[in-house]
Amino acid sequence: MGKKLIVVGAGAGGGSVAAEARRRDPSLEITMIEQGPHVATAA
Ligand SMILES: Cc1cc2nc3c(=O)[nH]c(=O)nc-3n(C[C@H](O)[C@H](O)[C@H](O)COP(=O)(O)OP(=O)(O)OC[C@H]3O[C@@H](n4cnc5c(N)ncnc54)[C@H](O)[C@@H]3O)c2cc1C
Repeated sequence: MGKKLIVVGAGAGGGSVAAEARRRDPSLEITMIEQGPHVATAA
């Protein structure tokens, strides 16, 4: 089973973490959890 990353919060920080993690490990399964109706549009 591949590695998984769960990011809580889809603001600037959460988006940046997810993007950098994807760059470092393209096979990573990433799930982002956001309590609000919007996600950041820049990371
Ligand atoms: C009025 C205002 C104007 C600003 N203008 C600018 C600007 O023009 N340019 C600029 O560069 N910066 C600006 N900033 C600063 C910028 O918004 C912050 O630096 C940046 O958003 C911080 O990102 P963050 O990911 O750390 O936190 P946040 O943006 O706060 O993101 C955290 C996210 O986590 C979510 N969250 C929290 N708890 C949970 C939970 N338990 N479960 C699920 N989701 C959760 C929240 O809903 C939120 O979406 C401004 C800030 C404010 C308040």
